Amino acid sequence: MNIEIFTLGPLQTNAYLLTDEENAKAVVIDPGMQPEKLVKRLEGLEVEAILLTHAHFDHIGGVDQIRKLKQCPVYLHDEEADWLTDPKKNGSARWSDLGPPIVTDPAEYALDDRQELVLLGQTFKVLHLPGHSPGSVGFLHGNVLFGGDVLFRQSVGRTDLPQGSWNDLMDSIHGKLFQLAEETVVYPGHGPKTTIGYEKQNNPYV
Ligand SMILES: [Zn+2]
Ligand SMILES: [Zn+2]
Repeated sequence: MNIEIFTLGPLQTNAYLLTDEENAKAVVIDPGMQPEKLVKRLEGLEVEAILLTHAHFDHIGGVDQIRKLKQCPVYLHDEEADWLTDPKKNGSARWSDLGPPIVTDPAEYALDDRQELVLLGQTFKVLHLPGHSPGSVGFLHGNVLFGGDVLFRQSVGRTDLPQGSWNDLMDSIHGKLFQLAEETVVYPGHGPKTTIGYEKQNNPYV
């Protein structure tokens, strides 16, 4: 499985493209705003799923286009089930200077903590990581975590947005992420990748 990073839109949100080149299959994580270069790369690939770490506008701007083009299902945690259809909840109404309001159909599948997804013939474990948003999740594949806006390199997700919670964020980081192996590589929603071990040593917010 290959991992490609596409940094998209005005907030420089990381979309991840996971590919099984042999079978021309792919999974897209967090297709953000202005997804053109990602969409172009999807030519000739069958998309098995769009996985969302959470439904803030900067992570979902490309959902509608890719879902229609590739006829693929979207996975999102239950706590944010009504965010894709509601620009107030996904934040696109408040940040209208950054782009049009985002309204798309609800996710096809609701994610739950500890659920295991099999995609591209691989297993991905869902970790519910509330705090930045109530339905934030990470997708753990072996020693790789696609973590959304929970833990960044030397930073953490903001908790001042609707339904954010600093206490929940710290519980998610200490109770779940810091229980993972130190060598676990974290691919975050913004900025460069890091590891659990590096953040335990160097992150000033935890
Ligand atoms: Zn966010
Ligand atoms: Zn974000």
